Amino acid sequence: MTESTYRIQGATGEWEVVIGLEVHAQVTSQAKLFSGAATAFGAEPNTQVSLIDAAMPGMLPVPNRECIRQAVRTGMAIDAQINRWSRFDRKNYFYADLPQGYQISQLYHPLVGEGAIEIALDEKDPEGSVKSIGVERIHVEQDAGKLMHDQHPTRSYVDLNRSGVALMEIVSRPDMRSPAEAGAYLRKLRAILRYVGSCDGNMEEGSMRADVNVSVRKVGDELGTRTETKNVNSVRFVMAAIEYEAKRQVSVLEDGGRIVQETRLFNVESGTTRSMRSKEDAHDYRYFPDPDLLPLELDEAFLEECRASLPELPDAKRKRYEGLGISAYAANVLTAEVEAARWFDALLETGAKPVPAANWVTSELFGALNRTGKGIENSPVSVDQAAELLALVADGTLSGSLAKQVFEVMLETGDGAARIVEERGLKQTSDTGAIEAVIAGVLEKNPNQLAQYRGGKEALFGFFVGQTMKAMGGKANPAVVNDLLKKALG
Ligand code: ADP
Ligand code: MG
Repeated sequence: MTESTYRIQGATGEWEVVIGLEVHAQVTSQAKLFSGAATAFGAEPNTQVSLIDAAMPGMLPVPNRECIRQAVRTGMAIDAQINRWSRFDRKNYFYADLPQGYQISQLYHPLVGEGAIEIALDEKDPEGSVKSIGVERIHVEQDAGKLMHDQHPTRSYVDLNRSGVALMEIVSRPDMRSPAEAGAYLRKLRAILRYVGSCDGNMEEGSMRADVNVSVRKVGDELGTRTETKNVNSVRFVMAAIEYEAKRQVSVLEDGGRIVQETRLFNVESGTTRSMRSKEDAHDYRYFPDPDLLPLELDEAFLEECRASLPELPDAKRKRYEGLGISAYAANVLTAEVEAARWFDALLETGAKPVPAANWVTSELFGALNRTGKGIENSPVSVDQAAELLALVADGTLSGSLAKQVFEVMLETGDGAARIVEERGLKQTSDTGAIEAVIAGVLEKNPNQLAQYRGGKEALFGFFVGQTMKAMGGKANPAVVNDLLKKALG
């Protein structure tokens, strides 16, 4: 294992950081967890609020089967235990964004039990650098509303659109040991959620947020006291919060102080965390089983349907690609985002050869997408167009460098590769007579280099290849040029 150890050097010795993440992932669903109200992002405030979400007296919650199904599928995707019997509990607290006065959650009997997520610590060696991060549980709960403090100088408003939206809380074991591991875990979890389709993983829109638990200890010591930094909404910020918090804790401890278990907030501008409130324990919330809801009992048919609907997941897909001869690195890149993986699968289905196709997608296509800031779902070149271009390379019509030129024109004009080759005469030539004539001219024009080459400076071979290709406008078949040059210089 190539785990790069992350240590903080203090005056009294080396410190290790311990991280556990609680990720809140919004379940992809048209309707809320216990009501039929819509969940679209960005709607006008208070336009997606049913009487249940507004906690009108006497309203009764009804579990949304689709939300339960998505959470179960997520659990299956991380090989977790699925609990056939689970129950909802009330977590009681007062806040202006919580009209019920309690959140319906699952403390004692969560829907999903122990599972694990494998992360690769080295993307060049995704197989050899695997670390398994334990997931303690996934439970289902309601989101709260949102307070708006910036609409009026002296008033705050509340938007209940999010109130009652279904969340999965995915709780990791304290198994991560560096900001990089936490980043890899979040990226992997996000990829799995997006493959499964249970959460869109959109961190900017708040569909995925992490509570970051951090403690430090001397290597080999017991776990230290942790702080919990709430609601961090990007991978980069999670890593920054860990870095800051670990260093802060080390300096407190080195100064003879102690860490208080508390809830902290991350400041995006300064990259620092600050204390928000002392951390409450479960008993502070007076959890008790929600009397309005029956326990959830899942039957075999439901579980079977959930299992059967799971797609091929990132690790399985990566291994399948590697089995086709694709490099570990390219397979990793191609499977990191579900859209890219789907696109590449479609390209393979056209009959494109896996290895050249993978190379072309990860270098040429991703390069072009990066330059234009587009995602692959908005690729200017369709799967069929890419297949056509790759077929022209495979049958020798195009060399690698001609394929690049043709691709540039495809990006500009949207035309197909064959048509571009035809119209612009970009075909590669293997016409030995024509190439020999050009080679003769190149040798004649470069008598000095020729003499040096024949005198033993063989490195000049590349120079002659380059001159010949240049004289032919890049259209000569490089293999034929090599052969004929060897003969001519021979
Ligand atoms: P709560 O729900 O009150 O925050 P949990 O016991 O469910 O408490 O733990 C929450 C998270 O804290 C988990 O992700 C767990 O891995 C992490 N955690 C627990 N102990 C530590 C520790 N000493 N250092 C870092 N993380 C920890
Ligand atoms: Mg917590």
